[in-house]
Amino acid sequence: MSFDVPVAPKFDTTFAVTCRLCGCVNFVSVVDSDFESWRNGKYIQNAFPYLDVNQRELLQTQICVTCFDAMSPDED
Ligand SMILES: [Zn+2]
Repeated sequence: MSFDVPVAPKFDTTFAVTCRLCGCVNFVSVVDSDFESWRNGKYIQNAFPYLDVNQRELLQTQICVTCFDAMSPDED
């Protein structure tokens, strides 16, 4: 019996990002080389295509989705 799974990103690093507004801690897992790319100037959406927009926002701004939603008007 085998447990082959479809190719998924192999995360090297999990960051515990503390929201600078409410202080909650959020975990974001990334691949080390992608993190390097981002630090070296790659656009975050290209560096971390597997993260959702909220996780990218968290890495960029240290603001969690709850606070982010509270700050921004609903777009629809
Ligand atoms: Zn927050």
